[in-house]
Amino acid sequence: MWFGTPPLMRVLIRARLQGYRRQVNVVDPARPLKLATPKRVAVVGAGVAGLTAAVTLARRGYTVTLLEKNDYLGGKLGSWEVELSPGRKTWVSHGFHAFFPHYWNLNRFLDSLNLRRDFKSIGDYVIVGPSGETVKFANLDRTPVLNLLSLARAGVFSLRETLKAPGRDLYGVLLEYDGEKTFEKYDQMSFGDFNKLAQVPPRLKLAFNTFARAFFADEDKLSFAELIKSFHFYFLGQDGGLIYDYPTRDYEAQFLAPIRAELTKHGATISKSTPVTSLEKTDAGFVVNGAPFDHVVMAADVVGARAVLSNAKGLPPAVNAQFEKLKTGQRYAVLRLWVDKDVRSDIPPFVITDRAKVLDAFTAYHRLEEESVADFKAHGEFILELHCYAVPEAMTEAELRATFLEELVEFFPELKGFSIKHEAWQCKRDFTAFHVGQYANRPTVETGVPGLVCAGDWVKLPFAAMLLEGACVSGYCAANVLLRDAGLQEEPVVAVPERGLMAGVPPPPARKKLFEGVVK
Ligand SMILES: Cc1cc2nc3c(=O)[nH]c(=O)nc-3n(C[C@H](O)[C@H](O)[C@H](O)COP(=O)(O)OP(=O)(O)OC[C@H]3O[C@@H](n4cnc5c(N)ncnc54)[C@H](O)[C@@H]3O)c2cc1C
Repeated sequence: MWFGTPPLMRVLIRARLQGYRRQVNVVDPARPLKLATPKRVAVVGAGVAGLTAAVTLARRGYTVTLLEKNDYLGGKLGSWEVELSPGRKTWVSHGFHAFFPHYWNLNRFLDSLNLRRDFKSIGDYVIVGPSGETVKFANLDRTPVLNLLSLARAGVFSLRETLKAPGRDLYGVLLEYDGEKTFEKYDQMSFGDFNKLAQVPPRLKLAFNTFARAFFADEDKLSFAELIKSFHFYFLGQDGGLIYDYPTRDYEAQFLAPIRAELTKHGATISKSTPVTSLEKTDAGFVVNGAPFDHVVMAADVVGARAVLSNAKGLPPAVNAQFEKLKTGQRYAVLRLWVDKDVRSDIPPFVITDRAKVLDAFTAYHRLEEESVADFKAHGEFILELHCYAVPEAMTEAELRATFLEELVEFFPELKGFSIKHEAWQCKRDFTAFHVGQYANRPTVETGVPGLVCAGDWVKLPFAAMLLEGACVSGYCAANVLLRDAGLQEEPVVAVPERGLMAGVPPPPARKKLFEGVVK
């Protein structure tokens, strides 16, 4: 076995993947950085995508108006204050977020404001099983493919069993990410279809499934092409590893207050509680909620973008129709609890749970975030957060809450008999559907309408990037279109390799038979 991997192997893998990290655009230093004459740009939506675009354009001399539906900024990384009891206020959010080392564009954006200074490493990537057993990923090799083999060494799957399994000829697909070609071939197939065909061994399936659920879809809905892309982006296309960082302050203190200050410093107008309800393309530019603009960055979530652009006036009907077809994923839910019992001390503050029905992840906030630690010290209540990334369609919110609490005790029996002092509940349906068959219709950054660009984790990019990193880099790409049109220097954009390690290598003949009737 080649677990004591020769350095040459690492060099060859790195060479084949062309160094893991590449710059995808040209930044011409001869071009000016700032506009000579200001232009008005409306940025619709203040999530990570909108904030990246707004800050970038404001710094470059654009007159930015940020229009946000909510009364807080940040979107899914937003934070808002709640009063738990008279005089006891705290900030809550959509919950724990993992910041992976290879979120290079997001890191650059955050570093431009020194916002990662309070980040901490999670230390270990842990999955907790239904009877409390754990699978840990701390010491995985970080080189692509060798990381997969070290999963076997960590006991996550048996290499021998996998090589003998009837579906063994299918696994290579995960190493073959190849942009559009991957979507042409596999976007009509679900991850569940793959699981059935490949007969993935149970422990490996656990790792695959918990990973896949982070894309907010059950396995029978999740596009297999999206899954191949996500494996390439998170695991098999770069060597950052799975051990991520998390912020130790609440999102208001860590991100949003400094970003608001930066926008204000550069003269941007921030309009919270301002949903965009109308957009019209005119000869002079755009009219958004009745006000004139030269450009629009549509960075709302998929619900907002669909509502505004499917009804926008003056756009080619094909653009309206494309947005009309945008689809939302399943609901997700976040339940934050203030309780009288704690979970055992040997688990990291955030773990992924191998859900039976709804519980996908668990966070012990009183061990994680400065403000929650202070709240715990003041009131003696442990702060636990439960996530469900894909709520079963038929489940009511009352059933969902009850099932959350049942599963919490199943995973952490030490909580048995706990009592809830306060809670904050969210159940929403505003996430992108990374579902089977969605790719062909997904909008790109450029809409074909001069001056109208899109940003958000739902936007189709010409390289693999997802979730927070997808949102941020799409914001940079949207800003770049406007900067380029104005003759200004672009922001550098970096990405993981264009193709996976085995892309273009002829597949084993047996695979064709296994995929028969499922893949074109
Ligand atoms: C529970 C949960 C956990 C997550 N965990 C992780 C994680 O660990 N790692 C990771 O990388 N990603 C994670 N994500 C995903 C990540 O949060 C998102 O991918 C990212 O924040 C999306 O940013 P965005 O700017 O594209 O969209 P959003 O954050 O959705 O922002 C869109 C904004 O547009 C606004 N808007 C909508 N309609 C209108 C309108 N008509 N007018 C004006 N404004 C409008 C919305 O209010 C919102 O503020 C998680 C998401 C959730 C929900």
